[in-house]
Amino acid sequence: MDLRNQQASGNVEDRRGMGAGAIGGGLGIGGIVLALIGYFVFGIDPGTIMSVQQQVSPQQESRPGPTGTPTDEMGQFVSKVLGSTEAAWTRVFEESNARYRPPTLVLYDGQVRSACGMGQSAMGPFYCPGDEKLYIDLSFYRDLQTRFRAPGDFAQAYVIAHEVGHHVQKLTGSFRRLEDARARGSQREVNAASVRIELQADCYAGVWGHHAGVMDQLDPGDVPEALAAASAIGDDRIQKQTQGRVAPESFTHGSSEQRVRWFRRGLESGRARDCDTFSAAAL
Ligand SMILES: [Zn+2]
Repeated sequence: MDLRNQQASGNVEDRRGMGAGAIGGGLGIGGIVLALIGYFVFGIDPGTIMSVQQQVSPQQESRPGPTGTPTDEMGQFVSKVLGSTEAAWTRVFEESNARYRPPTLVLYDGQVRSACGMGQSAMGPFYCPGDEKLYIDLSFYRDLQTRFRAPGDFAQAYVIAHEVGHHVQKLTGSFRRLEDARARGSQREVNAASVRIELQADCYAGVWGHHAGVMDQLDPGDVPEALAAASAIGDDRIQKQTQGRVAPESFTHGSSEQRVRWFRRGLESGRARDCDTFSAAAL
């Protein structure tokens, strides 16, 4: 990526080196952490499960870290990527006469308290609709390179853009589809709704990528990099790695092929309305 022309976002809260803060409330936080880790084994982020959890176990928030733009190299990078998503989504929202309200990106290490419960770096990056913040422990980027073999700065940016995609879903109301499925009850239906939510977030990441291209921020090779990342985090690929077999009915994020297809669709069109995974007959 070439982010020289991109202003860094100031919506970054830096909690690195602060610890998770005191645990209060006696709400069985250990259990929540375990549930989230269990979820993570099958996917890349627990963003969708958290909207439900916050209703069950509201958490007191930890003391906020300094907000602004970090000065270290990686902090600068994520702030610029976030700034780029803000520019892209502001434009997309304006096209439908709406105003984009940007999320806050929280950098942490180890553990973090969110309005959705305790987060842990092992879960990977996640979005919490309750506080409209995305949480990332930058050590995840090492996993992306080693465990998922998806190196490169555009792959790193794609991860942020995917979580921002969940924020867009919070703003547009898509999350309700998942909550409706949960209210109806069967795990199969919940998984199916989760896949549509995740593929839409991938498509939204593509919409951002399209606008990053328009803003002249892409290098040759960036798109294949992001497609490789999308493919590396497909449920089939991860299940094969972790369980040795693939069970499509338990997918929560979509197959590698589906993730690539929806990311590419957003990337090519640049329009959010082309990301309607809920009306799509085939994913
Ligand atoms: Zn997601």
